[in-house]
Amino acid sequence: MIVGLIGHPVAHSKSPAMQNAAFAHVGLSDWRYVLWDTPLEALPARIREVSERAEVAGCNVTIPHKQSVMPYLNVVSEHARAIGAVNTIFKRDRYLLGENTDWTGFLADLAFHGVPVGPETQALVLGAGGSARAVVYALASQEARVLVHNRTPARAQALLDDLANSPYLHEIRENCAVVTSLADPACQTAGLIVNCTSAGMWPAEDASPWPDDVPFPAGALLYDLIYKPPVTKLMRQAEACGARAIGGIGMLAEQGAAAFEKWTRIPASHVSAIMREALAKA
Ligand code: NDP
Repeated sequence: MIVGLIGHPVAHSKSPAMQNAAFAHVGLSDWRYVLWDTPLEALPARIREVSERAEVAGCNVTIPHKQSVMPYLNVVSEHARAIGAVNTIFKRDRYLLGENTDWTGFLADLAFHGVPVGPETQALVLGAGGSARAVVYALASQEARVLVHNRTPARAQALLDDLANSPYLHEIRENCAVVTSLADPACQTAGLIVNCTSAGMWPAEDASPWPDDVPFPAGALLYDLIYKPPVTKLMRQAEACGARAIGGIGMLAEQGAAAFEKWTRIPASHVSAIMREALAKA
C-alpha cells in the first residue's frame, strides 16, 4: 500500500521518516509513504490517481494545495471546512474524504505536555494564516477565550468571521477577539501564547513576532508551532522572561499519527511515540 504527500515543493518533508517508522512499528511491512511533488497544474491528475489506484490508501496535503484540493473530494469534514484546509485525504469505499488533523494534533500535543485547555484558558494566538485557523479552531472548540494578533489585522478579523460560521463552535463571537497591539494590557493576562506565524522559521531564524520592547508575560506558556529550528528566538525570549516554552515538533508527530489512523484504522496512540522518536532522529 502507498500513502503520498501532495505539495510543491515536498523534498524537505520529514513525513516519510515518521510515517515509514510507524508502518514498520505496527508490522505494515508492505506500506510505504512517498513524496509526490505536484505543481498546481498536475493536481487534478494526482487526485485522480489517488482515487483510482487501489493500492493508494490516501495522502497528506501540504502547501500550496490545502484549500485547492477540496472541490475534488466527495466529503470534506465540517472541521476541515470551517478551518478552510484539508491536510489528510483517505478512502472509504469508493469515496475520497478530506480531514484536517492539525487542530487535533495541536490539542493532542498540549495534552502530552500536560497543558490543560478549557473555559478557564485565556489564549493569545499570533498569526492568521493556515495554521492559526486550525489552532484558533482547536482552542475555541474547548471553549477557551482567544485573542488573535496578526501583522495584518484584517486577516485576523477574517479568520474569526469565517470560524464563526462553524456549527461546532459555540459563542466564538463572545469568546474570541482581535487585538491589534501586543503592548495591549490584555495580552499580558494570557496564560497560553501560541505562535502560528512563520517569523523565526529557518532560514530566517533571527526573526520573532514578539517586539523587543514588550516584555513576554512571565506566567504564560509559549507554544511555538515552528519546529525548524527546534528552539526559536521567540522561545528564547519567553524563557528569558521566566515563561515555559514548547516547540512544534510534537504537533507534527500528532497530526501525522491522526492521519495514520485514517489510512490504516490503527489508533494514533499506537504510533505517536514512535513518530516523535523518528522525527527527533530526522
Ligand atoms: P501562513 O503562510 O499561512 O501564515 C504565515 C503567518 O505568519 C501570517 O499570519 C503572517 O502574517 C505571519 N508572518 C510572517 N512573517 C511574519 C513576520 N516577520 N512578523 C510577524 N508575522 C509574520 O503559514 P502557516 O500558518 O501554514 O505556518 C506558520 C508556521 O507554522 C510555519 O513556520 C509552519 O512551519 C508552522 N507549522 C507547524 C505545524 C506543526 O505541526 N508544528 C503545522 C503547520 C504549520 P501576515 O498575514 O501579515 O502576512
